[in-house]
Amino acid sequence: MEPKPHGGRLVDRWMPEAERSRREAELDELPQLVPFVDQVYDTEKIGIGAYSPLEGFMDSATLDSVLRTGRLPSGLPWTMPVLLPIPSDTDAKTLARLQAGEEVALLDAGRRFIGLLHVDERFRYDKKILAQSVYGTNDPAHPNVQDLLAAGEETLAGTVDLVNRLTLPTERSELTPAESRALFAQKRWKNVAAYQCRNPPHTAHEYIQRVTLEREDVDGIFIHPVVGRLKKGDYRPEVILQAYEALVAHYYPADRVVLSPLTISMRYAGPKAALFLAIVRKNYGCGLYIVGRDQAGVGRFYAPTAAHRIFDEYDIGVTPLRYEESFFCRTCGWMASGKTCAHPPSDRIDTSQTRIRKGLSEGGELPVELLRPEVAAILRQPDVLLTE
Ligand SMILES: [Zn+2]
Repeated sequence: MEPKPHGGRLVDRWMPEAERSRREAELDELPQLVPFVDQVYDTEKIGIGAYSPLEGFMDSATLDSVLRTGRLPSGLPWTMPVLLPIPSDTDAKTLARLQAGEEVALLDAGRRFIGLLHVDERFRYDKKILAQSVYGTNDPAHPNVQDLLAAGEETLAGTVDLVNRLTLPTERSELTPAESRALFAQKRWKNVAAYQCRNPPHTAHEYIQRVTLEREDVDGIFIHPVVGRLKKGDYRPEVILQAYEALVAHYYPADRVVLSPLTISMRYAGPKAALFLAIVRKNYGCGLYIVGRDQAGVGRFYAPTAAHRIFDEYDIGVTPLRYEESFFCRTCGWMASGKTCAHPPSDRIDTSQTRIRKGLSEGGELPVELLRPEVAAILRQPDVLLTE
């Protein structure tokens, strides 16, 4: 069955048209804040209901509850803080106006008016406790811990009204939860499996998608790559989307797959991020969620099966589809996993991104057991990786 949004109701914080014109005209009178790009993305996602039931940035009581219990004060599972730290370069005059009861304009880096924040609390938060609870570490080698250490010491809480959608680097339209739900209904899909990714697809990804599509309880899959601010060395957002478009166009039945970007910053929090990402996809209308090995992990910070196990600790009303690592086995002559193949790891073709990048940079042909040629052609273009 198609799932209800998390908390039962899809949040819609779009500012009505008449008020938008008025607020935009008054912009110069409002205190203006240019948050870190992650929070600009979050502003939009709160507004369109992707983070339902959140209607704004978290207050101290909510943050405390999330960090201690992995739940909102209502008891609803929620594992990821959604905060609005005040950037440390905010000028003193603006800083003085950021108080409870104030309205604050949230602008993107190009100073476009994205959201209006109704401040109800300004508070200091403990970065060490947050990092330890969410990321399981205080190690600055962890990319999100590094961001956290650089963030402002105080954060603003309050509801947000969405004034304008983001301008996306990918120049592609991004479905809102209301739009994806309408699209699934139009296709008569009741049971949609969400596929989380942040890299172009190789055969191991494709295998998991195909195995999912073979299931009797799956009407279609929603491929929903996270293409917000990524980390250095990641593929550029448009490259990930082009690669998926090539795979879908050349190999999948057109009526089984929907593809749309999800512009948020990646939280490499392993299990807590996996649960958060599943809740977000529930809001987009997906009742099943594909959880790969070490999902949302980075380095060796999380046990490879931790992201699988967290779905036993919290019932979010989504069916997790847990998959082992898959690979091409030379002896089987097929895609397989530890569940279906008896052969030693030396028989497997290495499908790591490292191996694929090495193969691409050397310029030779990559085996079709590793990468579809249509996808390889896209990854061979110049400047496909983020360099900063
Ligand atoms: Zn085998």
